[in-house]
Amino acid sequence: MGFRPFVHGLAERLGLSGWVRNDPDGVFVEIEGEPARLDDFLKALRDGPPALAEVESIEARPLRPRGSRGFRIVASREGRSERTPLPPDAASCPECLRELRDPADRRHGYPFLNCTRCGPRFTIVRSVPYDRARTTMSDFVLCDRCREECEDPTDRRFHAQPTACPGCGPKLSLLGADGRKLADPDPLGRVASALLHGRVVAVKGLGGFHLACDATSAEAVGRLRRRKARDRKPFAVMVPDLDAARRLCTTDPEEEALLTSVAAPVVLLRRREDPPSAAGAEHAAGAEDAAGRIAPGVAPENRYLGLMLPYTPLHHLLLERVGRPLVLTSGNRSGEPIACRNEDVVERLGGIADLFLVHDRPIRTRCDDSVLQVACGGPVPIRRSRGFVPRPLPLPVRASEPLLALGGHLKNTFCVAAGEHAHLSPHVGDLDDPEALAGLREQIAHLCSLCDVEPTLVVRDLHPDYATTRLADELEAEGLRSVAVQHHHAHVASCAAEHGHRGPVIGVAFDGSGYGPDGTVWGGEFLLASLSGFRRVGHLAPVLLPGGEAAVREPWRMALAHVRRAGVGRRGTDGSGDLGGSGTAEVRELFPDVDPERIEGVEELLRSGVASPPTSSVGRLFDAVAALVGIRTTVRFEAEAAMALEAAVDAGEHGSYPVDLVEGESAPWTWDPARIVHRVLDDRAAGTAEGRIAARFHKAVADAVVAGCLRARAECGVETVALTGGVFLNRILTERAVPALERRGFRVLLHRRTPPGDGGLSFGQAVVAAARLGGD
Ligand code: ZN
Ligand code: ZN
Ligand code: FE
Repeated sequence: MGFRPFVHGLAERLGLSGWVRNDPDGVFVEIEGEPARLDDFLKALRDGPPALAEVESIEARPLRPRGSRGFRIVASREGRSERTPLPPDAASCPECLRELRDPADRRHGYPFLNCTRCGPRFTIVRSVPYDRARTTMSDFVLCDRCREECEDPTDRRFHAQPTACPGCGPKLSLLGADGRKLADPDPLGRVASALLHGRVVAVKGLGGFHLACDATSAEAVGRLRRRKARDRKPFAVMVPDLDAARRLCTTDPEEEALLTSVAAPVVLLRRREDPPSAAGAEHAAGAEDAAGRIAPGVAPENRYLGLMLPYTPLHHLLLERVGRPLVLTSGNRSGEPIACRNEDVVERLGGIADLFLVHDRPIRTRCDDSVLQVACGGPVPIRRSRGFVPRPLPLPVRASEPLLALGGHLKNTFCVAAGEHAHLSPHVGDLDDPEALAGLREQIAHLCSLCDVEPTLVVRDLHPDYATTRLADELEAEGLRSVAVQHHHAHVASCAAEHGHRGPVIGVAFDGSGYGPDGTVWGGEFLLASLSGFRRVGHLAPVLLPGGEAAVREPWRMALAHVRRAGVGRRGTDGSGDLGGSGTAEVRELFPDVDPERIEGVEELLRSGVASPPTSSVGRLFDAVAALVGIRTTVRFEAEAAMALEAAVDAGEHGSYPVDLVEGESAPWTWDPARIVHRVLDDRAAGTAEGRIAARFHKAVADAVVAGCLRARAECGVETVALTGGVFLNRILTERAVPALERRGFRVLLHRRTPPGDGGLSFGQAVVAAARLGGD
């Protein structure tokens, strides 16, 4: 990753002599000169390493001066395998971008230039140790000039494995909608013109294909949505630079640092309020919107917009040619893994893309864009993939046995771990999809081989029906031992472990669902946890999930379940929120767009309990309230209702609803949401604006977090809280709960390196397994 040339340059600049080489344990430097200069050298090593390098530690020992002259890069020691870590893919560096735009440079306008500081890495590696012959660049024979650069220790491209130039590197080509190759001397120009005319273009990137269209054209965005059969789920947008991002969204320094980082993730940013404009709503294809306004269909009714900056030379060139923000969304049909091979892209994306911009550098490993947001002054990964994988995460407890943690079911990742390190896989996706599942074993084998881990232990969720559970059974039959880790314990352990926290912690795990050891669906849990074990100290009071999965797609079912559980419409309640009579007619009025017969069907499920397991899920409580307020009664994607409820929050409203912790059966106490449901109904009946109801509800959930933690602390004395589970991707909730907890003297741990949702589950499973192995 350019560390030795960096050391070489540094030594020369400081007038120091000696040598540097790679060792199995890291980089070894012998350096000689003025003591003050040597101090400068050490300081620069620590503070200014090249973009892709991460200095874990520096050990220095004095030596007797040798009177050496000059500084050399020497060959690695023979006979021992070098374990230099494989870096993640990195966004184009400033020097490469300068060359890209310099008409006098031999790489001017070349879409595949890179150097030791930037370019493809993880996605092109076939095996380790990392060198060109073991990457998908192996078939491109270096030209003389590229070879000279590669062999020159003073050159930025010294040992740049994927280096390329127009003479010897990959080339662009263009395929029509039918897959036929289009001979065009200027493929980029043709693509830009197609995009400006509202067409959808599949563009091969670093870790897979994107589907691109003009983000300012309502027509183009509508076309992409229709063809991809994706209704409302927001699209990510690529903008040419930071200024363009600032024009569309408000950004703070933390968010700007993420946007411009070498990982170049999608960052969820708060949109600026668009000034009302007639041109905004209907935007003819091809017409220029001077304000560069994003078409409403990109992220409908959403306060946030996912933006990223160009991270390959190809993206830079494309954005320059088009001169507009582009929707750049994963090149797949809903639910399928993202397309990454020229051979089948036309088949996979046929009917969606009008044009295919491909190149001849194969993608070895699919790697989706990473997505992050900033909350409480730091980054929170929503999806940790390209740019981060396969960077190791330190384990707080050594894994005394190499292990493989399989994760959950949706938005899945897996994790391989040995010794001090865990490696989280790229985003695998939803394992409902047969293709995602079919590719899983191969992906596991590949990451294991890159990380040099041969697992003997497989870690799985407790859920009996997850695809990963069946895979664990298969692996067990093949001779691995297997252990199961409870879903929310894994969430809590992942959050604690990220911070190196090994002691007991109050884990607040709020999510959609996870299998509880009692056979019910958990998701609103207060756990007193260590890394190896846990006790359930409190949880949201269970409510029936009428019709199981159907209740996830139809939040009105959850609303009805909560309404009935809260005793609305029955005699004997405190009267507030009482709809009177049997309540059935009034309940129908709550969901005017739902067929009354279906409402009656769900009422019957709630009465009989058939196909309706109890759940303590806070995610489902958000769904219920969103439906009660009338914001969403059905959803098309996971967490849609909760996101819409968050988006509706009126920031000026500071009221709350009452939080009741009551005696529990399956835990010392439960959080009873009945009065919240009553008050939401009261507010709705009184005509209170939905934004104010949404704000009060968020405040109530934050209050419940605090109340639960206070109760847990009173019982066990633990002062550290880990907030985890997908619900904590809700920034308003997190930013209300954290300061409130801190005011009461808690130390609060938030996810900063792994996702709080199920994309981080496998890391937590690995942590728990390692802790159990170590007898922790
Ligand atoms: Zn570079
Ligand atoms: Zn070349
Ligand atoms: Fe979960």
